[in-house]
Amino acid sequence: MISCSKCKREAVLRLDYANLDLCGRCFTHLFEKKVARAQREFKLFERGDVVAVGISGGKDSAALLYVLFKLGKKVGFELRPILVDEGIAGYRDESTKYAEQLCEKLGLQLTTVSYQELAGHSMDSIMKIRDDKNLGFRSCGVCGVLRKDSLNKAARMVGASKLAVGHNADDVAQTVLMNFLRGDAEGFERFGVVSGTSAQEKFVQRVKPLVYNLEKECALYCVVNDLPFHLAECPYSAEAFRGQVKDFLNDVEKRHPGSKFNVLQSFLKIKEKLPKPVENHQAGTCTVCGEHSSAAICRRCVMLESLV
Ligand code: SF4
Ligand code: ZN
Repeated sequence: MISCSKCKREAVLRLDYANLDLCGRCFTHLFEKKVARAQREFKLFERGDVVAVGISGGKDSAALLYVLFKLGKKVGFELRPILVDEGIAGYRDESTKYAEQLCEKLGLQLTTVSYQELAGHSMDSIMKIRDDKNLGFRSCGVCGVLRKDSLNKAARMVGASKLAVGHNADDVAQTVLMNFLRGDAEGFERFGVVSGTSAQEKFVQRVKPLVYNLEKECALYCVVNDLPFHLAECPYSAEAFRGQVKDFLNDVEKRHPGSKFNVLQSFLKIKEKLPKPVENHQAGTCTVCGEHSSAAICRRCVMLESLV
């Protein structure tokens, strides 16, 4: 029997980067400690906040909702889970059942919005039009733009003061690397653990409480705490540049444990040196949809226009 490095009970998992074998209880404690660290360092939530939590039925957002369910009781904020249905047949309809189960288990009411209702198209229909018309965009690029917009609108609908998303340390390290590989230096300015300011009228401030937790740890947290989650992969994910970067980082992490955290920490150090967003700054609005946008026409409207 391998014993837990903290309490000597039987260990159920190993974290190579920290050289730790842990039992379920000590692992849960470590996972929640990392979320508490993010809360302390980035001042994510305040007493009285109404927090919309973007969930999908997948492991990251299941872990997020549960850990915030516990943290909310300590800090004094309320949770409003929201789910965006992209309209991907055989995928999102399945994972939605797991999201509903989790909300029921926690006694929370789930609000669902869809691309169809908010953008006039499902993801499946957008992909069909793209292929028929030979449009050059990638599935996840489009989906990412629509999801951000839909989550923001859903967060406003439920009266949220913050929007929590399930991006973990892997996601952040991937985004950092992708920005480098694309030569997108401005991407560093836009991207962060906290996006937007509380003064922006149409944009609900977006926070990433799982920034210090690896993807693998989110899955383990769900298993150890008996949280329902869906394990299938989106049929469009094979097109993603992110997938290639993810494979690369996983390979490096296997050979050099701790590499993902090193990318993350380097990014946070660089970010600290960049100018902070001005609290009263109001970005412009899109002349087509009236939503928050730094360009005259937002990316969502440019993309939707190309489908006509
Ligand atoms: Fe959307 Fe891409 Fe995620 Fe599928 S993998 S849900 S297309 S972002
Ligand atoms: Zn627009």
